[in-house]
Amino acid sequence: MSRERLYLFDTTLRDGAQTNGVDFTLSDKLAIINLLDSLGIDYVEGGYPGANPVDTTLFSEMRLLNTTFTAFGMTRRPGRSASNDPGLAALLEAKAEAICFVAKSWDFHVKVALETTVEENLASIRDSVRAAIAKGREVLLDCEHFFDGYKANPSYALACAKTAHEEGARWVVLCDTNGGTLPHEVEAIVREVVKAVPGDHIGIHAHNDTEQAVANSFAAVRAGARQIQGTLNGLGERCGNANLVSIIPTLKLKPEFASKFEIGVSDDQLKLLARASHELDDRLNRAPNRHAPYVGESAFATKAGIHASAIVKDPATYEHIAPEMVGNRRKVLVSDQGGKSNVLAELERIGLKVNKDDPRIGRLLEVVKEREAIGYAYETADASFELLARRMLGTVPKFFDVTYFDVKVEQRGNGAGGETLTTAVVKVKVGDEMLISAAEGNGPVNALDVALRKDLGKYQKYIEGLKLTDYRVRILNSGTEAVTRVLIESEDESGERWTTIGVSANIIDASFQALMDSIITKLLRAGAPT
Ligand SMILES: [Zn+2]
Repeated sequence: MSRERLYLFDTTLRDGAQTNGVDFTLSDKLAIINLLDSLGIDYVEGGYPGANPVDTTLFSEMRLLNTTFTAFGMTRRPGRSASNDPGLAALLEAKAEAICFVAKSWDFHVKVALETTVEENLASIRDSVRAAIAKGREVLLDCEHFFDGYKANPSYALACAKTAHEEGARWVVLCDTNGGTLPHEVEAIVREVVKAVPGDHIGIHAHNDTEQAVANSFAAVRAGARQIQGTLNGLGERCGNANLVSIIPTLKLKPEFASKFEIGVSDDQLKLLARASHELDDRLNRAPNRHAPYVGESAFATKAGIHASAIVKDPATYEHIAPEMVGNRRKVLVSDQGGKSNVLAELERIGLKVNKDDPRIGRLLEVVKEREAIGYAYETADASFELLARRMLGTVPKFFDVTYFDVKVEQRGNGAGGETLTTAVVKVKVGDEMLISAAEGNGPVNALDVALRKDLGKYQKYIEGLKLTDYRVRILNSGTEAVTRVLIESEDESGERWTTIGVSANIIDASFQALMDSIITKLLRAGAPT
């Protein structure tokens, strides 16, 4: 049975750019466009030419892409002709294959916000779609506040949709702009709309204000819509837009959708999903959401002992899909709640072959429990667990020794003109060679990190691509004294990530432990010689 084509439209760079604290540069935008293109997204909306210099530059030249590169903008202003509207003119000149217009479809908004008549708003839609088609563009019309508009005045909301369709717009997109519509309402309304405009010309643009943007998108598809608009990681104003990172695998892997629809994302492209999601977070300088469905670090993590032993027997017992399909991986958490089976499962994943009756397994579990009692958390720090296990099984080479370090924090001057300077000095012994490095940093941990990684002699080339992507500190109270737990997340040039841990009464010492584990992990993974 042939499947129907369902189209994906990404608006990370336009609607997603409305997120608090998100500000894309031109190079960010170009990198994200390529990322989306490599994922197989049908449409990528780059921005709003004319609205700001970045977007204007972005649309000043033709981009060679597989995706349909789309410019966003307003329909012609009321009271103006299409040929006498500078905003529309700029949009029509943009180097894009498609234009997505936004227009009001709620009569209340037309009268109050736009201060015009309902007839003039329809004329504006008609003229704008016509002008863009005359320019050879594929046209989409975003019907703003469609669902609220439909509830207030269904015939007017429908008239907006029909006008665009009759003028030749490829897509009429129903927007839940305020994000408050519920899935059963979306489904019922879209069922009515597809009686007037065919479903293969209808799109859904859902916001996440009741945390149902993904569900609303699927409700619209069930009712006949054939385009979904969303963003990577659900980026977007307020609570965000529909999250394409959750939508894509559901469409690809759940029979309800996979048996009926085909999307532009291939099985191989689906495997890039976790990486793409993390790459966006990296650009935004955010730590990825560990609990994100499909792609989060915890999405396939199991903690309790009985679950873990079942997972070792057959992963399908506790997993709804195989993590590799979306580029994620299974993680069996090692913690004091778990038993031997967790440790064994994790050792197997790492690639350490140990007999399950080996007495060292019991000893390793004891050490994990002792250390967790004083503040270590190996379920997060997978790389530190791996080092601990490898050390106990006797397979971590001694790459180098830090024989001395000194960190100095100095306050010079006072008041507003004062300055805090931090310097670190590190002595490292690599083989017979003694190396000494000094560095300044924006804080003690940064200075120590820079000094430590400045010169590792023959190992320097292995750590060049290593970067710290996240640094988290928690003060824990264990009985009478407070200890500091430091978690460091690292990433290398191949995009591989790992987390290491350090615990101490002293924050510098805790950070040092985590830094050392990170570097040694990298050297191990790179196969550096001893
Ligand atoms: Zn929106």
